[in-house]
Amino acid sequence: MNIHHDAMLDINNPRTQLIFQASAYMSKVKSGCQKYILESYEERQATFAKMITACEQLLIHSETSFPDQLAEIRSLVAEIVAEIHALSLIDQKTETGNCTVCNGPIKRGKTLVPEFPEIVWCGGGCSKKIMDCLSKLEVPTEVWWI
Ligand SMILES: [Zn+2]
Repeated sequence: MNIHHDAMLDINNPRTQLIFQASAYMSKVKSGCQKYILESYEERQATFAKMITACEQLLIHSETSFPDQLAEIRSLVAEIVAEIHALSLIDQKTETGNCTVCNGPIKRGKTLVPEFPEIVWCGGGCSKKIMDCLSKLEVPTEVWWI
């Protein structure tokens, strides 16, 4: 455990870069979750495709960066990809201002990150499974240290 902690503190440690890279792929999936909920059926197909690409990149990256954790990473990423596919098929009429996928209320909040001052998410929970899998992925990819 302490070895990992030391790695986090040392920005020049090559291990730290691998973890940041994994985090970047996971952020792409996360930001997709903020986007598809506001888009039309046609628009969000491109967002879902980008999220799946980020999942594939995370898997390829993990093969060399986290070989010991690969089974767990593969299974969580497979769950995310299956969920994205399921969401991409939903095409129902929703009320203006609500989530365009599940008709849940759109929630908005402020963040402390200047680049992303506002976050949006679906209060109906259609992204919950993906977000849960992403937070579980933080352990095998060591992202939870950063
Ligand atoms: Zn929703």
